[in-house]
Amino acid sequence: MGSGEPDSGIIIMETRQKRAFKILPVFLSGYSCRFGCVYCNASGTSGEIKVPNVRDLERKVRNFLSEHSNSPVEIALYGNDPSSLEPTIWQEILLNITSYCNEHPDAGIRVSVRPDTIVEMGSLANTGIRVVELGVPSMDPHVLKKICREHTPDTVEAAVKILKREKITTGIQTMLGLPEADALEAMTTAVSIIGLAPDFVRIHPTLVLKATALERMFVEREYTPWTLEQAVVVSADCVVQYRSAGIPVARCGFHIPEDLREDVLVAGPYHPAFGSLVNSEIRYRELRTKLLENPTIRVLTVPDEFISDYVGHGRSNIHRLRREFGHDLVITAEKKHPAKGCSAGC
Ligand code: SF4
Repeated sequence: MGSGEPDSGIIIMETRQKRAFKILPVFLSGYSCRFGCVYCNASGTSGEIKVPNVRDLERKVRNFLSEHSNSPVEIALYGNDPSSLEPTIWQEILLNITSYCNEHPDAGIRVSVRPDTIVEMGSLANTGIRVVELGVPSMDPHVLKKICREHTPDTVEAAVKILKREKITTGIQTMLGLPEADALEAMTTAVSIIGLAPDFVRIHPTLVLKATALERMFVEREYTPWTLEQAVVVSADCVVQYRSAGIPVARCGFHIPEDLREDVLVAGPYHPAFGSLVNSEIRYRELRTKLLENPTIRVLTVPDEFISDYVGHGRSNIHRLRREFGHDLVITAEKKHPAKGCSAGC
């Protein structure tokens, strides 16, 4: 989806199958999307339709596949809604990438699309697509209407049914803090998504981007973005829900490259380390529960590898816990490997 592009560069991703892939992200952007989701800047009426350079794209894919000829790889097509491309261009892209992937021992295509695009396609057989990330900003029909999404929760269910029938790994990209949405909506959406049993989810807090309908709504005070704190707390609630249902959360938060931030971001709960703020919130809750059960604890010993999440950004967790449970409280890392021993003797 236009405003939800993940990081560029090679990504190693793990899904429920616990299989690591090297991923080449390829961004299909620069052309107008035929939809008009209020939070996205990809819809445009300038009339100028730039199409991806198919030859450049092929070269990039071929090089990547030959560099990683012995590892499992995925070519990830992210960016604007591909169904807005001319059908011949979209088919050419898919056909060419599929033929290169077929020559590799373990390569497939990952694509980020709307649920109604999957329903329109009906089947993904012989496309080489093995992972689909569905854009599902909400499962609340009122929210979907307010954001001009032009599909319903039923469309999402129909799309997931097709993907499951075809044994395609299914991810769901969901959003928090949209117009008409609150914490309860976020939880209700999470519960509905859990009911669909996707292989993984991504959670994106809503940001106000330039040149979007949401920017106009924000300027006219028709929409108030969530605070960073609100977004972190509700994201943590959702992550806990997903994890307890056994659904991995592949990412929390948008990445906007630093040099682009000023040009694209108007308002909203953006933080470059949003995911780690969410993890810290979850770790804080974990430690707080432990202390409520046994307030005499003075030393909290935590796994070495997660010490920074437990301590929190700017030591925020230890400050919060000390305020509630006493200033002599200490968080220390469990030293499994004495040679590496790290103690955040806070
Ligand atoms: S479908 Fe909506 S979110 Fe996706 S690119 Fe188009 S306008 Fe943006």
